[in-house]
Amino acid sequence: MSECLFCKIVEKKIPANVVFENEHIVAFRDINPVAPQHILVIPKTHLENILDLDGAMANRMLDALKQLVAQEKIEKGFRVVANTGEHGGQTVYHLHWHLLSGRHMGWPPG
Ligand code: AMP
Ligand code: ZN
Repeated sequence: MSECLFCKIVEKKIPANVVFENEHIVAFRDINPVAPQHILVIPKTHLENILDLDGAMANRMLDALKQLVAQEKIEKGFRVVANTGEHGGQTVYHLHWHLLSGRHMGWPPG
């Protein structure tokens, strides 16, 4: 996926503030944070959205998420968001989980 922004981040062709990386997963700070801590967790392989995600990769993303919560000392709670498709507000079509923390989150979401 040569035109995919997040594939380029995985391939280190464009810079990102990476906070976690292993064989399968990268996590980096969102360039336009909407919370005091705003991290994106992505698979290194190009999956378009959560409907493409299988159990094995979901487990890897979940493991990374848990490690990040500990690493970033997120103690008061957080929100995980997977914007999906047009109505979900997805703008980058490489699967990512937003890990949002550091403030109270409103409900319902906008
Ligand atoms: P979504 O709108 O759910 O598809 O989320 C895409 C997210 O990617 C947005 O929150 C953007 O701020 C973020 N984003 C776009 N480009 C970059 C980049 N180069 N580095 C980090 N985050 C980015
Ligand atoms: Zn991609």
